[in-house]
Amino acid sequence: MKQHIAVIGGGVIGLSTAYALIRAGHDVTLIEQNEDVGLGASYANGGQLSYRYVSPLADAGIPRQALGWMLKPGSPVSLHLRADPRQWRWMLSFLSACNRSTNRRNAKSLLQLGLEGQAEMAAWRADGLDGYFWRQAGKLVLYRQNKAFRKAVSAIQDPILEQALSPAECAKIEPAFAHLEPDLAGGIFSPEDEVADSYLFCKALKTSLLSHQKFRFLPGKAALVPETAKRCALMVDGTRFATDLVVLAAGLNARDIAAPLGIHLPLYGLKGYSLTLRPSPETLPSVSVTDYDNRIVYARLGDALRVAAMVDIGAEDRSLNPNRLASLRNLVRQTLPGVIAHNIPDAPWTGLRPATPTGVPMVGHSGCENLLLNVGHGALGFTLAAGSAARIVKMIGQAHGDGAQK
Ligand SMILES: Cc1cc2nc3c(=O)[nH]c(=O)nc-3n(C[C@H](O)[C@H](O)[C@H](O)COP(=O)(O)OP(=O)(O)OC[C@H]3O[C@@H](n4cnc5c(N)ncnc54)[C@H](O)[C@@H]3O)c2cc1C
Repeated sequence: MKQHIAVIGGGVIGLSTAYALIRAGHDVTLIEQNEDVGLGASYANGGQLSYRYVSPLADAGIPRQALGWMLKPGSPVSLHLRADPRQWRWMLSFLSACNRSTNRRNAKSLLQLGLEGQAEMAAWRADGLDGYFWRQAGKLVLYRQNKAFRKAVSAIQDPILEQALSPAECAKIEPAFAHLEPDLAGGIFSPEDEVADSYLFCKALKTSLLSHQKFRFLPGKAALVPETAKRCALMVDGTRFATDLVVLAAGLNARDIAAPLGIHLPLYGLKGYSLTLRPSPETLPSVSVTDYDNRIVYARLGDALRVAAMVDIGAEDRSLNPNRLASLRNLVRQTLPGVIAHNIPDAPWTGLRPATPTGVPMVGHSGCENLLLNVGHGALGFTLAAGSAARIVKMIGQAHGDGAQK
């Protein structure tokens, strides 16, 4: 027996969850506070489906580097300490995850989740889900520092799927970045990594979902309140909404939605920026590129170039900081002069990555019988969306035999 499931949140995580649940035969209502989907962190992200490049930010050496970031205004990562207990709690947990063994363990579990998602997304494309500039572009991570390059080479798990390249080989794989060759220590190329437009992916999921009789899109603001010691009730715009099970997939806002149940989610919003440019087609890279030292990603999406970067810790708001944007534009101008020289519009955008301290999302049980979590995907939400959705479906199946709710 299948059940009725309400999914809170119409970002890439909530929509992927809804899509996977519909494929599994459930009745699904997706509740989104905005009139349309994909307008939160999923809107203009880097477009990377970087299944092989999932090492979390928390790693050995990061605390020392953070001191440098605090002192250098234009750095790709910035840290502002606030009188905000949430930030301090998050940072303490983050610091305790900053060691090699924790980083390796978490990277391994993210790799597994990503690869599950890659297979799941392939199945969705086979369903006919398209219209979001998906390409298996391959991903090239460029390193200028020998130490960082050697560390990346030592972490390679499969030398066919993650190839260590010389600077000359990097230039050959992606000629748009060939002028950087003299500055490079090397690169890692993952030929099977992909790119796509996350917002168009959200729209494609919604369009496909709306064609299913068992799906309903409900615009409204969702809230959760305790019903019994072990169960919660779902409210939409103040009215009780009856459902068998709720999946909370509301990005950073999940923190506030879960709090009345006594569930304290360790999420913090790591602010980032993107630019979307439409330069002349011959200047566009074909391969997706990460400039490791500047922590900038470049992805060609259709005839546009999406550039995404910056991790601002302690800036949990959605304002476009002109200084950070100027730093980003400068870095892009230095790295790809041909692209930004024409003074073309660059559609600046900012979003808050809903991050756990470890970088590993919370997918599964919440402690409340009728509530599952699918939150905390941080810098990798697009990459991990389909895998996380598949895990939710699997958990529901395992908990209820053939999927039936008691
Ligand atoms: C600059 C930047 C670049 C990035 N680049 C990449 C990348 O290249 N690859 C990658 O894999 N990931 C990337 N990410 C991360 C990725 O974008 C996020 O992890 C992902 O979008 C999170 O999706 P989400 O659905 O959890 O959150 P969101 O997209 O924020 O969606 C949450 C939704 O819940 C809704 N909601 C909230 N509260 C309620 C409520 N009470 N009731 C109803 N609805 C509610 C919101 O309106 C929103 O639509 C990037 C992020 C940023 C900021």
